[in-house]
Amino acid sequence: MTKHIMIVEDEEALAEVLKDYLARNDMRATILLDGHNAVKRILEEAPDLVILDVMLPGEDGLSICRKVRDRSDVPIILETARVEEIDRLLGLELGADDYICKPWSPREVVARVKAILRRTSRSNDVDESVSEEGGLQLNEENWSVSFDNQLLDFTRREFQLLSILYKRPGRVFSRAQLLELAFPDDAMVFDRTVDSHIKNIRQKLKPHSQDGEIIRSVYGVGYAYDG
Ligand code: CA
Repeated sequence: MTKHIMIVEDEEALAEVLKDYLARNDMRATILLDGHNAVKRILEEAPDLVILDVMLPGEDGLSICRKVRDRSDVPIILETARVEEIDRLLGLELGADDYICKPWSPREVVARVKAILRRTSRSNDVDESVSEEGGLQLNEENWSVSFDNQLLDFTRREFQLLSILYKRPGRVFSRAQLLELAFPDDAMVFDRTVDSHIKNIRQKLKPHSQDGEIIRSVYGVGYAYDG
């Protein structure tokens, strides 16, 4: 099915270029030129992905991103004009799936869009009890982790943590988010606990990963699973 991408971007020429590129890649795009009704339109029209500019007339992209994320899991790519701003945006824990910096090439944006759509269509399958990701498998029923059918020795907490990251590949989670999502009822875990569990998880996955880290550190922010 043709994927529907919503572009929220006040620079019309940019938005049109992107729309053309997406069309050439069999995707349909809708352009919103300001932030006024963006939240409503995104929630109503439920696109497959949103490309959202930070600086917008009406309502800014950060506010839109937060409001949409409260009610929807739609993948969001945030566009910013400054590469230095990406760190700050990450720290705000907006729940965006990726960040791109202007000036971008439409080819690059389309590649990112495709990558995210691949990830999300894959993670939609993760609801099943056994999920497959390359050679890594997580079994929610017995909390087991295996790699190429070889069972790895994971503790329950390590499983819970890995499972959160694994279900949303590429998304950056802060330590606080990981604590809340992985151990909602556990008062005995702290930010540093996340770090030490991640360290153990990496250690256990290391012999099975070809090129280094499966779990990426985002400096000062948290972690992401890159598959
Ligand atoms: Ca703008």
